[in-house]
Formats: sequence, C-alpha cells, structure tokens
Amino acid sequence: MSALETANASVMSFVDNRLDRRATKRTDTGFLDTLLNAPSTRIVLSTATNLLLPAEEGETVGHTLETALALGAERKEMVFLGQDPETERSYFATTVELEEDDVAILDGFKVTDLRTLALGPELPADELSMLSQARALIHWHRTHRFCSRCGHPSQMVEGGYRRDCPSCEAQHFPRTDACVIMLITDGDRALLGRPPRLMEGVYTTLAGFMEPGETVEQAVRRETLEESGIKVGDVRLISNQPWPFPSNLMIGCVGDALSFDIHIEDDELEACKWCDRDEVRQMADGTHPEGHIIPPSISIAHELIMGWLENRI
Ligand SMILES: [Zn+2]
Repeated sequence: MSALETANASVMSFVDNRLDRRATKRTDTGFLDTLLNAPSTRIVLSTATNLLLPAEEGETVGHTLETALALGAERKEMVFLGQDPETERSYFATTVELEEDDVAILDGFKVTDLRTLALGPELPADELSMLSQARALIHWHRTHRFCSRCGHPSQMVEGGYRRDCPSCEAQHFPRTDACVIMLITDGDRALLGRPPRLMEGVYTTLAGFMEPGETVEQAVRRETLEESGIKVGDVRLISNQPWPFPSNLMIGCVGDALSFDIHIEDDELEACKWCDRDEVRQMADGTHPEGHIIPPSISIAHELIMGWLENRI
C-alpha cells in the first residue's frame, strides 16, 4: 500500500476489489462451466448504460443464472469476475439487450449506474469495486465484437479476458486506458482547474490520457503544459485508482511547478488558478466565498487535494 492508501484506505471508490480472479484457471472451460452452474453463483447484469441490481435489500449485486438467462443473457457471453475468497461464491457479469423503456418496467430490479452507486451509501466498497470490474469488461466486449485486423466477428475466450478472431487468428485483450492525474504545487499553493464538463463550482486537479511511448512523469509534464502553460519539474507517483467510465486507470501524482504564469491554450479547461492552502481549505469545507468546491471523496482528485492539504503527501 502507498502512504496515501494507508492513511485513508476506504474513501476512494473502486479500489477495494477482493475477488480472487483465478486467472490461471480461465483457460479451463470445464472449470468455468462448473462455477457458472453452481447454485451460489451470481451474475451481474448490465445494459449498455445501466446496471440491473436485485431490488430486494440484503441481496448481493448479482442474480441467479436462471434469472440472467430469462432476461436474454447468453452463456457464451459470461465474463468471469472471480470468487469471493471467504464464501467461495463465484461472480460473473454479462450484458443484456434491453431498451430503456423495457428497463423502466422491470419488476424486481433496481436500475442504476456506477456513478450514482459510488456517490450513495448503499453498497459496500468491495461490491462497488467488483461492479467497476464488471462494467469495464462489459463495455469492452460490447464495443469490440469484431476483429480490428480483418473485421470478422470475434469470440469471447478465457472467461472474457480475450477475444479471438476465428478468421485471421488475431487475439484481442481488454483495454485499460492509463490517465495521469496530478496536483501541481508551488510551495504553499496548488494549481486547480475547471474542465467545462464538471458540476458548477468544482475545481480539481489537472488530468489527461497518457500517450504511447511516454513515462508517467513525461505525461504529467506534457498534460500540465498543454492545459495550463505551467512547466513541471519533479514528479512523484502517489496512488492510483480504477475509474470505470469506461475503463481508465487514474495514476495520481504530485509535481513541482517550474513556471508560474497560467496560459490556457486549449479547450480542456475553462478556468485555472493557483490556490493557497486557506482557499483550498475553504473549498474543501464548503465555505469558499464564490462557492468553489473540490470533487467528491469517491475520486482520486479529492484524495490528492486532501492529502496535500493535510500534509500527507
Ligand atoms: Zn481477424
């Protein structure tokens, strides 16, 4: 565990997945069939955009195989998530093709999405993390049905961790898109920006996708320069977080500013400013005079900002 995880282990969402993925057994279709057919096994169901959870309180986040098949799920499209190490209950996930109107009238299902679940109190951290694994994999399968080399329909293998093309024999693997997310500081002040997509008043750390052939440190320096015009020197990796919207890995860093004049040259940010500790504290406390706030505690951005404010990083 990093220092940040140790200091505040259960606040960030999606980082508490405790399933045993049984990765070395995923080539064994007999093994996976046995698990799929076990009475205790549960299936996480998802449409293109929503999760379908059991409506009844106290249930797990999955359904029986019988229920999944009744909703049109297919056995050959089941992604193996893993086994609970304590109960040995197995979890799979799959997609069901339902229109929004059909979903609305389903009896016995709670229709929701990951962001709502993360912001709410109802789910334990480990179940929320399992759902992030499920959503990332389901999204990949839904959007990678055809071979990117020859265009032939591909087939799910290895419990959903690979798709093979029967025509050209290409193998395709699930994507995880690496993003850097960084708190850039200059002594007692931090650089916070406002992407236009965020809720009104929210100021956050800068962030961006890594590019091929780039180190984390290089990506932090490039993205910060592109978005704010600020040059960055030393960069330190602090923590990381799966961010299943749809399948990112956020790599959290802090970096030391080498220049201080802000120039917004692209459209990634609509505002960017240096904030001293007092102002950041007001933003965190909800007492900022202009109503500026920091992102909610589910995100690594919140963790980076609070870690700096409390001298933990
Ligand atoms: Zn192919």
